[in-house]
Parts: sequence; C-alpha cells; structure tokens
Amino acid sequence: MDFVWSRQLGKARVSVISDGTGWWLIERAFPDVPEDELRQFMELDAKTRFKQGFNVAHVSLPGASILLDSGFGEYGTPEQVGAILAVQDIEFTPGVIAGLATLGVRPQDVTHVLISHTHGDHVTGATKTAGGRKLPAFPTARCYAMAVEWLAPPDWHQGVEAIEREKAALDAAGVMELVDGEREIVPGVRFIPAPGESPGFAITRVDAGPEVVYYVGELFNHPAEFAHPEWIRRYRDCETLLATRQRCLARFADERALVIMSHYHFPSIGRVERSGGGYRWVPYDG
Ligand SMILES: [Zn+2]
Repeated sequence: MDFVWSRQLGKARVSVISDGTGWWLIERAFPDVPEDELRQFMELDAKTRFKQGFNVAHVSLPGASILLDSGFGEYGTPEQVGAILAVQDIEFTPGVIAGLATLGVRPQDVTHVLISHTHGDHVTGATKTAGGRKLPAFPTARCYAMAVEWLAPPDWHQGVEAIEREKAALDAAGVMELVDGEREIVPGVRFIPAPGESPGFAITRVDAGPEVVYYVGELFNHPAEFAHPEWIRRYRDCETLLATRQRCLARFADERALVIMSHYHFPSIGRVERSGGGYRWVPYDG
C-alpha cells in the first residue's frame, strides 16, 4: 500500500505519511462558493463531494527525528471520525506508526512532536492506550504546541472529549512544551504562529539547505485556496485566516519553498508560484 512518500532534500529526509482518505462535501468545505467555480479546481462525484487526504509529515535531521502532527491514533473508527469531522467514507491506511516503521523510525526514536493545532486528526495520535492508561505514543519525545492553542478549550466541532483526554494524558506525562511566538525547535526547524484555522495554529519551516520545506497543516486544504485564499470553511476566524494565508503565500513563493498540506491528495507536496494576481500550486515532481 502506497502511503509513505520520502525524499532526501539537502540535509533533511522529508517524509509524508498518509493516515487515510475521505470525501468532503463541497457545502461543508466551501459553503459560499458556487459549484461551477469549484469544478474548475476539483473533480466532484455524483454526490458533489471531492476526495481528500489525511497526511502527517516526518523530518529526519542529524540528531533529530521530528513528527509534524500525529494523526488519528485512537480518535475512533472511520465511521466515528467521519461523524465528528463531517467527512464521508473515510478509509484508514496502516497509520502513522506503521508508516514511520517503513522509514526505520521506531516510536522511541522520535525526539519531537510538533502539533499544528488541537483538532483530533492532528493530535490524538500522540498517545496510545497501554495497561488501561493513555500514555505518550512516542515515549521519549517532547511535544510542542502554541500555548494559546493548548490552553484554550477544544473546538466544539472536533470531538471535545477525545481531545480533552489527549491533552490531559500529555500534560500528566509532563511531555508538553508550550510555545509563545516563533521558536527554533532544533537548528533549521522553526515553529511559527499562523492563526486563523484556530487561534494558536502553527506551521513548521524546515531549512534543509538548499530546499526550504513548510508543513502547513490545514492552513490550506486544497490548491483552490491558493487562487482563492478567501474561500474559508465555517467556524473559522475568517479575517485572521485570510491575512495569515496571504502573508504565507507570499513567503512560500518568495522562498520557492516546498509546501506540505495535511488534507490534499497524498503526497500533498508542491510549490506555490505567483500566477496572474494570485498564486497556484505546482506538484513536486522530484
Ligand atoms: Zn485536519
């Protein structure tokens, strides 16, 4: 099963692991956009749904093994997760830990887990149940989140109980590092505030020399949002998210960076180029 993508980019080995796929309804993902406009950017099935992915990333550098978001973990069955996230026909892959194993990375090898935000598909994989207790899934890793994200209550539309359990378990294990503002986690890896999807949302920049790679989580979910950064889902802080997207698009294009999105088609890595007055996605072909 093809669910792990990996390349050596400069001094970093960068990998994308698919945790699953699912079908988004356009009226949930793009509630205010006419269907014929969306069809210019995506294929829709008979139920006006488009297929998306659930991806996390891993960066291996000398002395550091960094997981960027942790995936579903024990969030629930595909049906339970689908009901929480309003995503249909979810299919799981063998998962993040199995994907890391194909890279020769054991859970105890992971040194850092960077959590973009506390929505369940990004955070609940950071623990696992053992002996009736929820414990860190990556037992020697420090876990990082923006303080404003971690200290806020979970969004009501993301499965509050599962996320509260996850946060409590990580807090009890003493593995959390709460971050205020931009921080260099290890040399060349920066955790950067990018508010809007949630108040404490963060992206990660990896200077792999010569390549720069950004893991952007769901700051963007689909390349259509590069052309139309104003296309934003419900329950988000639209003004803040639009400003963050515009700032980041300019930065990604200026740096000719590679960008990894959580929810585009695996492997969901490409560059952002200026096009007309806006931006477009160019899939990575290396
Ligand atoms: Zn997500």
